[in-house]
Formats: sequence, C-alpha cells, structure tokens
Amino acid sequence: MKALAKLKAEPGIWQTEVEMPKVGPNDVLIKIKKTAICGTDVHIYKWDEWAQNTIPHGMVVGHEYVGEVVDMGSEVRGFAKGDRVSGEGHLVCGFCRNCRAGRVHLCRNTIGVGVNREGSFAEYLSIPAFNVFKIPDNIPDNIAAIFDPFGNAVHTALSFDLVGEDVLITGAGPIGIMAVAVARHVGARHIVITDVNPYRLELARKMGATRAVDVSKEDLKDVMKELGMTEGFDVGLEMSGVPSAFRSMLDTINHGGKIAMLGIPPSDMAVDWNKVIFKGLVIKGIYGREMFETWYKMASLIQSGLDLSPIVTHEMPMENYKEGFEIMCSGQSGKVILNW
Ligand code: NAD
Ligand code: ZN
Repeated sequence: MKALAKLKAEPGIWQTEVEMPKVGPNDVLIKIKKTAICGTDVHIYKWDEWAQNTIPHGMVVGHEYVGEVVDMGSEVRGFAKGDRVSGEGHLVCGFCRNCRAGRVHLCRNTIGVGVNREGSFAEYLSIPAFNVFKIPDNIPDNIAAIFDPFGNAVHTALSFDLVGEDVLITGAGPIGIMAVAVARHVGARHIVITDVNPYRLELARKMGATRAVDVSKEDLKDVMKELGMTEGFDVGLEMSGVPSAFRSMLDTINHGGKIAMLGIPPSDMAVDWNKVIFKGLVIKGIYGREMFETWYKMASLIQSGLDLSPIVTHEMPMENYKEGFEIMCSGQSGKVILNW
C-alpha cells in the first residue's frame, strides 16, 4: 500500500510502498480517507533533535485522520464494516495503576501512533478497537480528520471553568485557535490570544477572540487596560511552548488564577516561582486527550454548533504532501489536509 514514511535520517518525508498492516484479534483496520498534518509531523519532517531521538527508521508517520472500518479482529465488538471513524493516537498499556483506575490518558507506558509505531499517512491503519472512535453522521470528514488536535484544545480549554471568565491563550497555532473557539462556545467573557504571526492572529479573530495580540508590536497590559480588566486573567491556556509567552501569562494572570499547559517548552525554561506561589496559582499539565471523555465532548461541541471549519485552510491530494508540509512550515496556514 501507499504510505508516507521517514525513509532517511535527514530532513524530509518520502512516499513509498509498504506491507499492509497486520490486524490482531483486538484490532480494527481503517481505510484512510483524509489525514491532517500535525506540528509533530513538521518536527519529524524537519528532523530536529527530538525527532532524531524518537522516530524509528523507515516508519510510516501521521496520526490525525478519518477513515472507514474495512476489517476487524475476531474479538472486536461494537464496530461494523463501513463505520466512519477516527482514533485516539495514544495506545495505552491497560495494566499500570492509572490504566486500571480508568485514567488511561495518564498511562505511563503510552505509545504514540505515527511517533513510536506505524501511523496513518497510509492507505490503511490498524489500531486496537479500544482506540477507535465512531464519528456521528452530522460531523463532516474535514472536521473528523482533525479530532486529534481539536482534542488537545478541548482537553486544555475544559480543564477549568471558563463561564464568564477572562481567558488568556498564548500561541495561535491551530490548537490555540481551536481553543479560542471552544472558550467562546462555552461562555468565556474576554478571550485574548497572543502570537507573533499576523496570519494566525487573523484566523483567531475570525474564530471568536475578543483581541488577538501581536506581542512583537503590542503590550498585553495595554490590551487589558483597553478591555477594562483591572485585576488580571482568570484562566490561562499556554499553547505556544515559548518561555516568554509563559512568563507574560504569569505576569498577567490574577491571584488564584488557573493555568493549563499544553505547549511543550524547552527543558530548561526558567520560571519565576515567586509568582506561582504568591499568586496562589494552580498549574495543570496536559498531555493528549482524556479517553474518551474529550472525544465525546468534541462530538457534542460540534453538534451544538461550534464551527471549526475556518481552521482548515488548505486541502490537497496526498501526492502533493511536500507542498502541504512546506505550507505548514511557513506558518501561513491553519490545518492542512491530505486526501488519500
Ligand atoms: P504551533 O507550533 O503551530 O503553535 C505555536 C504558536 O506559538 C505559533 O503560531 C507561534 O507563532 C506562536 N508563538 C511564537 N512565539 C510566541 C510568543 N512569544 N507568544 C505567543 N505565541 C508565540 O503548535 P500547535 O500545533 O498549535 O501546538 C501548540 C503547542 O502544543 C506546541 O508547543 C506543541 O508542541 C504542543 N502540543 C502539545 C501536546 C500535548 O499533548 N501536550 C499535543 C500537541 C501539541
Ligand atoms: Zn497504562
């Protein structure tokens, strides 16, 4: 079958032919219809230090997709051929303490589809039935294809009560922008998002931000004054992984504020812990999506009218994947979808 794989230990991804994946007794075989390019795939494409230390040689990459069930193992229940599905990209062990307590998103033995094992940039993907999520009929393919990053946004944004609150989101990447839409949908008051990329800030405005602030040109504290915010943000969603962005969040969050951190900072990020302590902040790290509460919330958010469609800015045949990766690298895009 056709696939995109990391064939060489150098920048790039290559189209190739690979064996059909095996379908174990508990697995579902999915025929891939659409995949989306994730920031993680861009790291793999660029072959940065993280990718060099993580990605097995020759592996098929990708983990954001929608497809159709075409086969399944003998032990699988609850799915039928023809079901439209996406899937949770974190495979969990099932026997660690958190798994056995049902907190499987905290599994210490998590394996990533398209990161630690074969992924979805292929005609077919085989994953455990446990990870497969049926997509309701009224959710379009392009939205189902981005449920994985949408789930990061939903998991992060719904970590704390946003109703009537002033929310700061640092980083208007695709996930930050989707978090804006979620915060607006669930009833936040002011939603301020920061970035240094005008294209993405404009997209964030379109998706419901009260103010989208280019921090290379404007001071966040001036924006707060303009909005009549006298005390500070109630909730912070860190979605950039940029140390200066996190520091601005610690500066502008109110006492008793709550911060959910999704962005992955460099390992040596310095933090003024005095701010955390004397402001009495609560900080929560976010990894992946809750299985499967986040997935049910995603479906319900879309079904209750949340419109994510502006975030998909590019769509192309999979053969044009190089163009897709270059667009993602340029920063002049929301999500890029490859049709298989
Ligand atoms: P992205 O790289 O597209 O977005 C990050 C954004 O931060 C970019 O638009 C960039 O321009 C912006 N930025 C740069 N400097 C800034 C500054 N000073 N202030 C504010 N913003 C600034 O990434 P994404 O795909 O939207 O993901 C967001 C973050 O979440 C990334 O750090 C990613 O690695 C991380 N992530 C974490 C998980 C998890 O499970 N924890 C999952 C997916 C992604
Ligand atoms: Zn586990």
